[in-house]
Amino acid sequence: MSKRDFYEVLGVAKGAEQAEIKKAYRKLARKYHPDVNQGNSEAEEKFKEVNEAYEVLSNPEKRKQYDTFGHSMGGQGGFDFNGQGFSDFGFGGFSDLGDIFGAFFGEGARGQGRSSARKGRDIKTEIILEFEEAVFGKELSLTIPKDINCSKCSGTGAKDGTKLKTCSQCNGKGKVMRSQGFFSVSSTCPQCGGRGKIIEEKCTECSGRGTVEKKEKIKVRIPAGIDNGQKVRVRGGGDAGSNGGPAGDLIIYVRVKEHPLFKRDGFDIFLDLPIRLTDAVLGAKREVPVLKNEKVKMTIPEGTQPGKVFRIRNEGVPDGYGRRGDLFVKINVEVPVKLNKKQKEKLKEFEDSLSDKNNPSTKGFFDKIKKFFKS
Ligand SMILES: [Zn+2]
Ligand SMILES: [Zn+2]
Repeated sequence: MSKRDFYEVLGVAKGAEQAEIKKAYRKLARKYHPDVNQGNSEAEEKFKEVNEAYEVLSNPEKRKQYDTFGHSMGGQGGFDFNGQGFSDFGFGGFSDLGDIFGAFFGEGARGQGRSSARKGRDIKTEIILEFEEAVFGKELSLTIPKDINCSKCSGTGAKDGTKLKTCSQCNGKGKVMRSQGFFSVSSTCPQCGGRGKIIEEKCTECSGRGTVEKKEKIKVRIPAGIDNGQKVRVRGGGDAGSNGGPAGDLIIYVRVKEHPLFKRDGFDIFLDLPIRLTDAVLGAKREVPVLKNEKVKMTIPEGTQPGKVFRIRNEGVPDGYGRRGDLFVKINVEVPVKLNKKQKEKLKEFEDSLSDKNNPSTKGFFDKIKKFFKS
C-alpha cells in the first residue's frame, strides 16, 4: 500500500508554516481521536496517519529529509511512527499538545491500565462583593451550569438494562501490548479508549457521555477577610469526572468594590478624616465612622497637625485567626475659605498676638535656613 503524501494528510500546502501545520494537526487529531470514535477502525487508521504525518512535518530536520527524499527515505522505519501515540515510548509529536490533550495523553502515557478515570473540568466564575461583604464574609447562592453524572445511567453511559461489554481488543485491561523491535510497548487500547468496556446501547438521556449539563445551585461561604483578586476553591464543585474519576473544582474569583470612605491594605483599613482648623488648634472630641455603619468617639488633642495618623485598634479586617487589623485615621485639617473682611481682620489680629513658641516648627525651619546660608 502506497503512503499518502504527509502534506495531503494534514491538508496543508508544501511550504506551510509550523503554526499552520500544528493547527491542522490539532483539528484532525481531535476529529479522529479514539476517545470520540470508539471501535471505529477507519478513524483509528486516520488517527495514526495524521500522527505520523505530524511527527515528521513538525520536526524541521525530518521535514527537510522528507521534502528531499519523500517516503522512500523512511526505509527502515525512519519515519515509522509507532502507531499509537499513547505508548510509553516515543512520545515525540505530542509534547507540544499537552495543553489541549494533557488529559487524554497524560493518562495513557502513565500506562496505568484502568487509568481512563478522569478528573472533571474545573469551572471558573467571578463574583463582585461589596467592601464590607469581603471584610466580614458572605454566604452566597450561585447557579453554575455544569456537567453532572447522568442519573438515568448512573454515569455509565449505557442504556437502562443493557450491560457494558468487555472490550474484545484488550480483554478489559484498557491497554494493549505491541512489539517494537526489542521493546514491548504498552499503549491505551484504541477500541475502548482505555476504559476496558464498550457501551453496546447508549443511554438515551446522555447519548453515552455519562454526564448531562445542568444548572446547579450551590451555597458557598466566602470567608471573612477575603480581598480583591483572591479566589475561593470549592473542591468537587466542577464538572463530574468520567469513568469514576473525581469531579473538578469550582474556582471563584473575587472582585471587591471600592468603599466611599475606607481604603484597605491587607487587614488594615485607612480613613481620611477632615477636621476644622479650630478643632485642630483647640482639640475636640469627634465621632469617627467605622465598619458596619458604626461610630467610635475619638479625642483629637490640642495642637493636632495635618497628616497626623491615629490608630484605632481592632477596627480593621478579621484575619481568620480571631484577630482583627486596625483602623488608621489620617487627619486632614481644613483651612477655612471665603472669609469676609471682618474675619480676616480678626485673624490678622490673632496672628499678631502669636510668638515663636506658638509656631515651633516654622521657627525651627527658618533657623535651619539661616544656618545653611551662613556656612
Ligand atoms: Zn446516561
Ligand atoms: Zn479495549
